[in-house]
Amino acid sequence: MDVKSAIELTLNLLADCGVGSWNVEVIENFGPETPRRMGLCCYDRSTITLARSTYDGTKVYLDDDAEMLMTIREEIAHVLSRGDYEHGEGFRRALALVPNVPSRHREFRIELSKPAA
Ligand SMILES: [Zn+2]
Repeated sequence: MDVKSAIELTLNLLADCGVGSWNVEVIENFGPETPRRMGLCCYDRSTITLARSTYDGTKVYLDDDAEMLMTIREEIAHVLSRGDYEHGEGFRRALALVPNVPSRHREFRIELSKPAA
């Protein structure tokens, strides 16, 4: 999927879960400290961040729809479970509430920034 589709899917699934006030961003990768990280849920910024690829670029997550969906559902489950980063009981219950497919398609205003020159 492309960047816009990933953001749209995340916003639609968030809306299905009753969350309307979070932001979604796609970055190139999470850097050398966490080279294979796919997603992050940041409470301070109310933002879900998704990686386009691994740090070394050998795996492009955006090219794998199933993997993107898995990551998006996981990060939304972190939103719903209010900081259960340990993937405990609260997280698992929340994950079960996140649909695999949005109930309907909503339009969002999505701004794509250009990479810094
Ligand atoms: Zn997690």
